[in-house]
Amino acid sequence: MSGRPVAVVTGGSRGIGRGVVLALAGAGYDVVVNYASNADAAAEVGKEVEARGGRAHLVRADVSRADDRRHLVDETTAAFGRIDLLVSNAGVAPSVRADLLEAGEESFDRLVDINLKGPYFLIQLVANTMVAQQAAGRVERPKIVVISSISAYTASVNRGDYCVTKAGLAMTAQLYAARLAEHGINVYEIRPGIVETDMTGPVKARYDDLIFNQGLTPIRRWGQPDDVGRAVVAVATDLLPFSTGQVIDVDGGFHLR
Ligand code: NDP
Repeated sequence: MSGRPVAVVTGGSRGIGRGVVLALAGAGYDVVVNYASNADAAAEVGKEVEARGGRAHLVRADVSRADDRRHLVDETTAAFGRIDLLVSNAGVAPSVRADLLEAGEESFDRLVDINLKGPYFLIQLVANTMVAQQAAGRVERPKIVVISSISAYTASVNRGDYCVTKAGLAMTAQLYAARLAEHGINVYEIRPGIVETDMTGPVKARYDDLIFNQGLTPIRRWGQPDDVGRAVVAVATDLLPFSTGQVIDVDGGFHLR
């Protein structure tokens, strides 16, 4: 397949998504940087991609909205003509943590729409696009990476809404891995541990103690967005061709506790 491969990274403007975008640019990808509202952050990432020799295309799209998901795919195809890799990363934490016995439906609905329903149907849309582009000889063995979380299996009773969306996302990765194997499209679930981003900013002091003093993360440091970026590059560049539906823990050993 000639030409540079193209990756679409949802929520690529900040945090883990930014780390993934920059790692992919360093590995020779052109990248579509999706974001929800923060255009300045996306523009900065775009400049950093270009500094690494790649092309960046910025697309504002809310993954929870069907018309925005279609816009994202159409914009990508118009800009680059192919999708070799989708990294479904965009996600939100609850604005306020609430005990399971008291939590309301508003936060639940928001998280389900952004963290689960959005990715579920974006992957469907992109998978169909990949199948068609592969049949047309435009891409070869494209891949899909889902960024879930240790919360997919950790019962945090003060943010149950977040946990159930991540557990559902883990199954989403399994489902598409099973369905797309016959099309030569491998799907991977990357499960980050505690990563230093805007999302974890509000709980930084508490997690500093848990990580450094109490060993919540056995490799006693914060995860960095580049840790996740490296894992994405590994699977995207076909280091695991006979593995699909694989869960890759990028968590400093959190799952060993
Ligand atoms: P950040 O809050 O730092 O960044 C979130 C990114 O997602 C931003 O680029 C934001 O865009 C984008 N985004 C938010 N909502 C939407 C939406 N509706 N549509 C499109 N894009 C959207 O989060 P993190 O980098 O920390 O998290 C990234 C992913 O990793 C999430 O799915 C999260 O659940 C998961 N994760 C995070 C962990 C952590 O410790 N940080 C641990 C495990 C998993 P904009 O800039 O426009 O707001």
